[in-house]
Parts: sequence; C-alpha cells; structure tokens
Amino acid sequence: MPLRARTLLGPGPSNPYPEAQVALARPLLGHLDPVFLQILDETSDRLRQVFGTANRRTLPLSATGSAGMEAAFVNTVGPGDVVVVAVNGLFGQRMVDVAGRCGAEVVPVDHEWGQPVDAGRVLEAHPSPKLIAAVHAETSTGVLSDLAPLAAGKGDALLLADCVTSLGGIPVELDEWGVDLAYSGSQKCLGVAPGLAPFTISDRAWERRIEKPQSWYLDLGMLGGYAGEAAGSGGRTYHHTAPTGMVVSLHAGLGRILEEGLDAVHARHAEAGRLLHEGLAELGLELFAAEGHRLPELTTVTVPEGVDSAAVRKELLERYDLEIGGGVGAYAATVWRIGLMGANATPDKVALVLAALKETLAR
Ligand SMILES: *Cc1c(COP(=O)(O)O)cnc(C)c1O
Repeated sequence: MPLRARTLLGPGPSNPYPEAQVALARPLLGHLDPVFLQILDETSDRLRQVFGTANRRTLPLSATGSAGMEAAFVNTVGPGDVVVVAVNGLFGQRMVDVAGRCGAEVVPVDHEWGQPVDAGRVLEAHPSPKLIAAVHAETSTGVLSDLAPLAAGKGDALLLADCVTSLGGIPVELDEWGVDLAYSGSQKCLGVAPGLAPFTISDRAWERRIEKPQSWYLDLGMLGGYAGEAAGSGGRTYHHTAPTGMVVSLHAGLGRILEEGLDAVHARHAEAGRLLHEGLAELGLELFAAEGHRLPELTTVTVPEGVDSAAVRKELLERYDLEIGGGVGAYAATVWRIGLMGANATPDKVALVLAALKETLAR
C-alpha cells in the first residue's frame, strides 16, 4: 500500500506542526539521558504555559488522552466517593463510565447533545461531591462549555476538566478559573501525533488523592518520582520507559505554539472556525451545535436530508485525500465533524474542505 499524505480535518489526529513532524526523525534519546530529562522538564514548563497554571505537577502521560481521563479519576476517587459528571456528549458519558469503574457513586447530569453544560444544574446535583467533572470542548458535538462558573461554585469539591480538544485551540486558564485537574491529548489542537496525554494537578487535589490507586501505570505518586515532582533533580527513578521520541515531538510542537504566541494561535483558530461556519452556511448547510457555543476547532454539520453521510466521507478521502469525521452515538449518520486543529487552522484548509464538499454534494 503506498502511503498517502492525507489532510486530516476530522476530530483528531490533525496534521502535526512541521516542527513536531521533523522532531520525530531525530536520533532517539534514552529516557534517563540528561539531555532528554531537560527536554522533559521544558515540556512540563511549556505545558504549564498552555494550561494557564503554575501547578508543579504538570507532565505528559505516556498514553493517549483517554489515559489522562483515567489517571484523573483513579488518582482522586475511590469506592463511595461522590462524583458529579456533566454529560453533554460522548466524552462526558465516558467520564461516567470511568468514575463508576473506580467505585465512585456517580451522579450524571444529562444535557441535550449540542447544548453547553448548565453550571447551575450541575452544581445543584449534589450538596457535597468530592469531584465535579466536565468536558471543556465536547468533540462529539462541537460545543464549548464555560468552566469558570463551575469553578466559582464548586465549594469544597475538586473540579476536573477534559481539555483534550480545547488545549492549544482556544484559551485555557486553569488557575484563573479554579480548575484542580485537567488532561489533554497531543494529537488535537496541540498539533502533535497521538500518544501523549498532557496532565496537570493542583496541590489542593494532590493532598486529597488516593494514596495507592488501583492503577499501577497511572499512579501519579510513582510518576512524580520521574517527572513533575522530580523536575530538575538528579534523583529520578525508573517507573516506565518514557516514549522519548514522542516527548521530543511534543516539546517541539509546544515550542512552535509559544513562538507563534498563544493569543495569535487562538486568534488563528477563531478566524478559521468563523470562515468555515460562514462558508458552510453559504453552501446551505446547517450547524449542529447550539449557536453562541460553537467551537472554532471542531464544527458539527447536519447531514442534509437524502445524503449518504458515509459515502460523502469516503469520496472526500479517496478523491481529495481529505479526512473529516462522522457523528457519534445517535448522530453517527446525521452529523459530520470537521476539525481545524493546530497546523490545520488556516484559511487554505477551510477553502479546501468547502470546495471539496461543494463538488461532492453536487455530484
Ligand atoms: C479525543 C478525546 C478524548 C480521548 O482522547 P484519545 O487520545 O482518543 O484517547 C477525550 N476527550 C475528548 C474531549 C476528546 O476529544
């Protein structure tokens, strides 16, 4: 099979930034090499900048975004702990599943798909939860939810945010808002290949963590001996073999983002999203996510009546080497998902997907 160069405008992975792509071709470093450890520490520093946090314990976990979700729950909740989860899409549903597997008493607060999280309802769902969890950017529906009101009303609870699709695409200010734990994924707006889950936890959440979580691999206490807590120290201990090539690539991708400037990167995503939303409207297509809460980096489009959703995606892939996503759950066949993430948040990618969709729909 010849390797095709695809334009990845689905819900992730996105095409990496060139800096992150070439970093993958560098000679491999050992995971305890001082040069690598310095890159790891710098990567944590860079993650603190994009997360908008001073959290000492900020590190890339060695697995995809889902491991970030799992790490957040296994390290903070155990049997009988009350966890309130805002559910307005697939990833909120997954949080319910993961928290339940930890033995937590889960209180899901369901929302209609396509709508943002209603902070008032979430905060009223239980008087004293240990943890409240919400998805910042719901990739299944293309909806942005405001985390600040949840943080403002959380009281004694910890607040966990899924920032997989928001980080590097739209502003994330964890400390300003008051979010205690957050995770992301390398392959969405951070513009790096899949394989790492940026993760951060506040001192407040750290003090209330589970001492010996049921997951050995994702035990933050043990990981802290290698990264995060051990940053800059000579006393690093082996826990698992860090995927050094991937960390070097993430370091480069974050370097690119910070060099461009976080504000400029966010503005580029906002502009690309606006152009796409306008262009889709001109094609007579309807957007699925509630107006005023639409993500610029992930747009959900209602598939027009009588159009075979999968056939269109197949043609885009085969004819234009262009990937867009289908819907999920009940919306699998009725929604398309178009991502403009990281390096792909540019006017030329918007023009490409609009032209290809127009031609394909006309046929
Ligand atoms: C993609 C995604 C995840 C899961 O990340 P993986 O890298 O696929 O494991 C979790 N939450 C959200 C909001 C996502 O978009």
